Amino acid sequence: MERKNIWTSYSQQELEKLEAINADYRNCLDKGKTERECIRLTVERIEGRGYQNLDKLRKSQQTLKPGDKVYAVCMGKMIAMFQLGKRPLQEGMNILGAHIDSPRIDVKQNPLYEDESMAYLDTHYYGGIKKYQWVTLPLAIHGVVARKDGTVQEICIGEKEDDPVFVVTDLLVHLAGQQLEKKASKVIEGEKLDLLFGSRPIGQDESLDEKEKEAVKANVLRLLKEYYHMEEEDFTSAELEIVPAGKARECGLDRSMILAYGQDDRVCAFTSLFAMLDVNEPERTSCCLLVDKEEIGSVGATGMHSRFFENTVAELMALTGGESELKVRRALQNSKMLSSDVSAAYDPLYAEAFEKRSAAFLGSGLVYNKFTGSRGKSGSNDASAEYLARIRRVMDEAGVAYQFAELGKVDVGGGGTIAYIMGNYGMEVIDSGVAVLNMHAPWEASSKADVYEAYKGYCAFLKKMS
Ligand code: MN
Ligand code: MN
Repeated sequence: MERKNIWTSYSQQELEKLEAINADYRNCLDKGKTERECIRLTVERIEGRGYQNLDKLRKSQQTLKPGDKVYAVCMGKMIAMFQLGKRPLQEGMNILGAHIDSPRIDVKQNPLYEDESMAYLDTHYYGGIKKYQWVTLPLAIHGVVARKDGTVQEICIGEKEDDPVFVVTDLLVHLAGQQLEKKASKVIEGEKLDLLFGSRPIGQDESLDEKEKEAVKANVLRLLKEYYHMEEEDFTSAELEIVPAGKARECGLDRSMILAYGQDDRVCAFTSLFAMLDVNEPERTSCCLLVDKEEIGSVGATGMHSRFFENTVAELMALTGGESELKVRRALQNSKMLSSDVSAAYDPLYAEAFEKRSAAFLGSGLVYNKFTGSRGKSGSNDASAEYLARIRRVMDEAGVAYQFAELGKVDVGGGGTIAYIMGNYGMEVIDSGVAVLNMHAPWEASSKADVYEAYKGYCAFLKKMS
């Protein structure tokens, strides 16, 4: 099959729209570097567009009607948004799903220590990373500290121009002869990813007798108390995520790409959100679902395996068609979903890992994967041929550029998504998404054209899939 590069197909007007979408996308990437931050910015945007919190509506026992917009949030890390369609909810929804957690390094619960007048935070990485990629980079700390009195302190250090940043050190090349003999998975080991946090002892006048031996640690604790009103014990009830510091950037002399942290899977999450905000009075109920914990198996209360989504649909049903377990099951089974996650973009420098005819290419549009998984399609939700045909029709009618691909060569590796979990309800689900280079690296690259086509594809799906 012929593969097109879509850049040459755009009119001037379309190019302007493409740039506007991408500028907004970069802005969202900068504001949303953790799942909590992504939820906060999503709620801000949708409330500005008339979405109402389902909890509040439930308490006031309001009946909902077509065109009404509602949302529910789970623990500040997962969100489901709906715009009610003209057709009854039990006839099913058009659902866009994506995840908003990204690989990173988390701070441990008992993290702070001093060694030879240097203070460190002990860490535990989250998701699949090549550990050697995360050393000697400017890093930022984002997260929250929950205190015993019930207050929650937001933390974000390393993003403003004049903020300090942090670093994980690596051995200088001059002394690295032995280290460089190790295989790549062992060059930097998990316990060596500790974050350098400070190196200046507390002033003499301020020094506490018993703390004198650890004067650098005492000094960072003094600063934490001064700026964030936190004690050392408060680390135990904190969620602090270490991520690359700095903003999303245009990439390439032609500015055709975006280089940024966390595009897996925020590139799909934000384009899905943009599409959701563009829907008006749909036939079928539109839904956008942004979930946490995909990178560690979609487990826990805020992952796709949790009951949050079906509970939310049950609440929604109670406020529309009247409470009914059977109607809830019908609504889920009759739904259609794009489970969106990033695809591996073909990289000519690593051609050996790809099979070219089935690879996703930068600048060739929204990627569909009939299946994911590994080896003999293990762990995949294999979308049905009939559904694929309907997807093709909707995308073609809307003039969306798309490609069918799979992740790398057979038997080379693989990956999972949230698609199979939604498939458990008996709904039609297909994996779709945007191709990225350097997936799971501190800085991932995507094509602006693909970001734009994803947005177009998601709009078409919400409006036209029947
Ligand atoms: Mn992903
Ligand atoms: Mn991933």
